Parts: sequence; structure tokens; C-alpha cells
Amino acid sequence: MATGELIEVRNPRSGEIDYRFNAPSAEELATTLARLRKAQRVWAARPLAERIEILRRWRGEWVARQGEIARALSIDTGRYLIATSEVQSVTGMIDRWTQLVPTLAAEEELRSPTLPTISYRSQYVPYGLVGIISPWNFPVSLCFIDAVPALLAGCAVFVKPSEVTPRFVVPAMQSIAAVPELADVFHIQPGGRATGEQLVERSDVVCFTGSVATGRQVAANAARHFIPAFLELGGNDPLIVTASADLERATDVALRATCLATGQACQSLERVYVDRRIFDAFVKRLVEKASVISPNWPDMHSGTIGPFIFAKQADTVAAQLADAVAKGAKVLCGGQIEDHGGKWLRPTVLVDVHHGMQIMSEETFGPVIPVMPFDRIEEAIELANDGVYGLSAGVIAGSLEEAEAIGRQIDAGGISLNDGSLTAMCHEMEKHSFKLSGMGGSRMGPAGYLRFFRRKVLIRQHGQPATMANIAEDNIKGTRS
Ligand code: NAD
Repeated sequence: MATGELIEVRNPRSGEIDYRFNAPSAEELATTLARLRKAQRVWAARPLAERIEILRRWRGEWVARQGEIARALSIDTGRYLIATSEVQSVTGMIDRWTQLVPTLAAEEELRSPTLPTISYRSQYVPYGLVGIISPWNFPVSLCFIDAVPALLAGCAVFVKPSEVTPRFVVPAMQSIAAVPELADVFHIQPGGRATGEQLVERSDVVCFTGSVATGRQVAANAARHFIPAFLELGGNDPLIVTASADLERATDVALRATCLATGQACQSLERVYVDRRIFDAFVKRLVEKASVISPNWPDMHSGTIGPFIFAKQADTVAAQLADAVAKGAKVLCGGQIEDHGGKWLRPTVLVDVHHGMQIMSEETFGPVIPVMPFDRIEEAIELANDGVYGLSAGVIAGSLEEAEAIGRQIDAGGISLNDGSLTAMCHEMEKHSFKLSGMGGSRMGPAGYLRFFRRKVLIRQHGQPATMANIAEDNIKGTRS
């Protein structure tokens, strides 16, 4: 069978092309998907307890190869600690879902409250084939986050990870191959745009994580093929800091939640609004803390800030910084892309910013912290809601009650109170994206499992069925006026 396009992959630390792979050809992809579809019928017919047991067996194979997968992922992403914890997080996903799912999707018989002779029972019918398309920023977590619940639901799954970070796939697939019953219904293969498009065309449901621009294309393609699309897209998350906030807490959170993973996280805080009464003190302390954070270069096992995984992202961030400076922003620390082959940026604090700047209105996806003062809390809430995204947000105040009263007025799906980016750490709570940040059911909480079923109802008639006599016009004689 002909192989597909040869894709060259750049090393995020050296900037050199040091990895190549072939995307699947259209024919190869069609053959793999047909194989998965066929095996899915057997997979779905297994009792849930068997699917759980098979995923737990895979967990053992994953753990046995964790070191190797983490090494490959650290080359993909140019960072070690996050790569290691990402790989470890997969066991947590398996544990959480295998414990939770036996309590979900229970087929209990219920009585109709309006028709006493009727009872009914829901049958949960899994989708046949789930197509998953994932981005480069957390390649392993986002490869498995939807795959694990979909497999437990009884679906077959094909994941197409980003062509920017494909190295982890070979050892990850070895862990799957070690469990043949799982390998029959679960396949991961990297590819580019063409593979993504073909996958949407041949799946029964698509889970897409990536940019708004690509998400729109995926949604349109899914609509053409009449399948549901779950879209988890970008954000431009605000943080509001009130006058009563603890300055140490506020600056710690502002720095960590903007710069974690070099800001390459969808739920990164991207803009900070601070009460004018504490603005100068906040900025001074933030700059003190930001200035001592160093890149993990030349030694990957030192420093805190990894390289830009995708070189073009560094260009986007540089262009946004140039736009901000041209419009009057002041850079208090960082601000220069450091080019060592790979590209790094130290935490960059900006003031004198406004919403006419791209850095405030668009997703930056870099370690940049623009800080803007506000005079009234209503103004801060208006600024936080002024934009096209609604993924998540944070509020830091003197009390959780004060923070919550503000958080309730922000148009976003996950609000961290007296912290930031908590949605990255808690997966059990349901949430929806607002505005352009996504569409479809929650990936978190029970809905993250239940969305992989169509619900079929089996309705039992315990009494006499209605006959034509029941609908004869004569029946209402005398009641007509
Ligand atoms: P991207 O949209 O460029 O690519 C995402 C994936 O889509 C890749 O696998 C790519 O190959 C594939 N693709 C490209 N064109 C396609 C098409 N026409 N049809 C089908 N697939 C196609 O995104 P990226 O740059 O890899 O990732 C960064 C973005 O992801 C950021 O915007 C970030 O906010 C977002 N993101 C969102 C979440 C979330 O949960 N909301 C999580 C992580 C990242």
C-alpha cells in the first residue's frame, strides 16, 4: 500500500529537522478505519467490566514504557518535567475513568409520570468510530483525554496527533500493541491537515482540540458529513485582582498561570486587570518575581521556561509584542525572543496596554503578562468580557466570597477563584466553553463519557395500546362549543 506524505519535524531546542515520518495515505487510513470499525462491534459487545480490565492491563504496559515515552515527548516539546508529568497523567486518567464509569449510563427502568401503563429503559449505544485530532502543546494528555472515556464507552478510536510533535507515538503505540484486544480498536497515527480532513470525513463523531481557525474548518467539514463535533479551542483568559487581594498570592498566580509551559496552554492567563490602588505594588512585585525565571537552555534540566514548541508561535508572539510596543506599551522585563536554533522567551511583563492591541484581544500562547489598571470592579468585569473568547478566567480577592461574586459575572466556562488555571488540574467538573472557545458537550465530568453514546429508549406498554377508536372525531361530541 502506498505511504502518504513525508513530513519533516523540527526539533524545538536545536531548530533542526531531526525526525521524519510518513502520514498515512488516504487508502491506508481508510483500511485502518475499516479494521477499527469492524472490531468495534466485538468491543462494544464486551461487558464494561472486560473493557475496564483491558484498559487496566494497558495501564501496566504504559507504566512499563513511561521512561521511553517521556524521553520521546521531551524531544517533541523541549521540556522534561512537564513531559514526565504529562506521561504520568495518563495513568490518572485511566484510574479516574475506570472507577467512575460503572456508576454512569445505568439502564434502569422508569415509569412514565403521565401515562401509568408505560415504563421505559434507556439503552446507551456507543458511536462506532471516534476521530480525535489533537494539537502540539500537550501532545500526550490531549491525545488520551477523550480517547480513554470513548474506549470505555465501547467506541473504536483513531487519534491523529499534531504533525509538530509526533515522536511520542511510536513508544505509545508499542504499549497499545502489547494489549491485542485494545490494539484492535485503538490506533494513534500522526499526520497533517489532509489526514485530519479525511479522518473527519470517515468518523461517526469528532473530538477536536486546537485553534479557532482550524476548529471552524473541522466544524464545517463535520456538518457536511452530518456528524457531531466536540470542539475545544483557544482562549485569551483574563485575571482580575481586587484591592483586597494578597499581593504575594496574586503575583505568584499571575506569573505561574501565564508562564506555565511557556504560556502554551489553552487555559493560560493572558491578560491581567489590577485595581489601581494596588497596581504599582503589584507590578513591582511581579517584575521582581518574573525577572529571576530563566529558560531551560542550554541544559534542559535547568531553568523553568521551555522553548516554543512550534517555531511559528514565536513569530506570532514577537509580532504581538511589536504591535503592543508600537501602540505605546512599555516592556518591564523579557520581551526579546532568544534564538539558540530553538526559540525561547523569558517572562515578559507589559504595562500601558489597552484593548486596541493584539496582545490584549488575541490568543498569545507565550509567557507574556500584560497588566492593566481598573478603577471600578464593573469596569474590570467589562474588560474581562470584552473579547471573542470564553474559555476560562481567574479572580484573586481578599475572600473567596468576593472572588466568587465577580467570577459569576465573567463569560467563560471555568473560573478559578483565588488561583488560576485550575481547570488544568481538576477534570471531574463539567464546563462548557463560551463564545469562540469551543462547542459541544463538556469533556470534563460525567458528560465527558456520556457524550460518546446515543441514547435509545425502549418503551414498554403494560396496558392496552390505543386504537383508531381513541382518535375518532365522535369522541369529542358534546365538548365542542
Ligand atoms: P491547530 O488548529 O493548528 O492544529 C490542531 C490539529 O488540527 C493538528 O493536529 C493539525 O494537524 C490538525 N488540522 C489542521 N488543519 C486541519 C483540518 N483542516 N482538518 C482537520 N484537522 C486539521 O492547533 P495547534 O496550533 O496545534 O494548537 C494550539 C491551539 O490549540 C491553541 O489555539 C490552543 O488554545 C488550542 N488548545 C485548546 C485546548 C482546549 O482544551 N480548549 C487545549 C489545548 C490547545
